[in-house]
Amino acid sequence: MASADPADTPPVPFIDLSAQHAPISGELVGAVSRILETGQFILGDEVRALEADIAEYCDARYAISCASGTDALVLSLMSLGIGAGDEVITSPFTFFATAGAIHRVGAKPVFVDIDPASFNICPEAAAAAITENTRAIIPVHLFGQTADMEPLWRLAVLHDIPLIEDACQAIGATYQGRQAGVLGTMGCFSFFPTKNLGGAGDGGIITLDDKDLAERLHHLRVHGDTGGYHHVAVGFNSRLDAIQAAILRVKLTQLDDWIEQRIDAGDHYDWLIASKGISEWVTTPTRSDNSRHVFNQYTIRVPAFERDDILASLRQDGIGCAVYYPTPLHLQPCFESLGYSLGSLPAAEAASAEVLSLPVAPGTDASSRERVIDRLAAACEGRAGWSQRRAA
Ligand SMILES: *Cc1c(COP(=O)(O)O)cnc(C)c1O
Repeated sequence: MASADPADTPPVPFIDLSAQHAPISGELVGAVSRILETGQFILGDEVRALEADIAEYCDARYAISCASGTDALVLSLMSLGIGAGDEVITSPFTFFATAGAIHRVGAKPVFVDIDPASFNICPEAAAAAITENTRAIIPVHLFGQTADMEPLWRLAVLHDIPLIEDACQAIGATYQGRQAGVLGTMGCFSFFPTKNLGGAGDGGIITLDDKDLAERLHHLRVHGDTGGYHHVAVGFNSRLDAIQAAILRVKLTQLDDWIEQRIDAGDHYDWLIASKGISEWVTTPTRSDNSRHVFNQYTIRVPAFERDDILASLRQDGIGCAVYYPTPLHLQPCFESLGYSLGSLPAAEAASAEVLSLPVAPGTDASSRERVIDRLAAACEGRAGWSQRRAA
């Protein structure tokens, strides 16, 4: 099918934060000036107000902010006393920080394979990996869709193992009507700028209902200080800035609207892909029953041997796209000593070879999406295997 000449059409950025901020720029600048006037830059009233807002949004009793999503994971593990000799089960198909945090506290990441449909941890594989040293499971709600929690809840109760949600990509996602962040013992979120709720810098937060753990987290983020330089534990410095909190509080008022835009964009992509007749080559993301996928990423699969060429072709046509993640964590050089090899976790390895994320951030309008799928179809048609298969 003839497509528009890409030279005639404007590029589609993968994400354009300045465009997203433009309609609220007055409020954002006002929030920053207000903090400059207070002279209170780290923790303090504004950070407490954000914590209260996030606790309310996630239906959690407590929310404790920190310096990043990575730190949220590290602090969660520390608060549970997890360290040397302990094993923590998680997904190999995630951002590095999930496993990096486990290693940072001295524990051993135990990678188990994913469910190829959702890209999230396979509960049966997690069950099979439990040993007497297992001290936690970290399900990751990848791309904005919650992991299959019900079987994990059963494991948690049966083996008395806490679940720490890596909800960094999933603020606003729900599972059986409950918010991500309260589906386990604790939920870890990131405010990295490209997350669904992002600051103008780094930031993170932990949501939970347990009072004792909340108290411990409050201490751990300030070197274990309970006040008055009295240190009950060795924590570290992981605090949120008031300017970030003020910006995030403004952006939180837009979050549900932005999530709706992401969901609409995802549905539109599904429809466009089906109507272009490329469904045989492009697998669209699944939505699990009883859950709300908030599309931090809209991630398709294409044949592994064509993926990098399709990516290059889209980029050449000015379409922003990305591969999350090209190497599963069990095959990263830094984890070589854990003893995994190619073939250890085939579903995660296949996903790494086949995934491609398309622009889905707020501001990617309908005509941009049409252009994305138009160029995707052209890229598919340009591949040798495509025309052969189609002719057959
Ligand atoms: C972004 C992210 C993190 C880490 O968050 P930072 O704020 O960048 O430290 C952890 N896990 C997942 C799945 C993420 O997407």
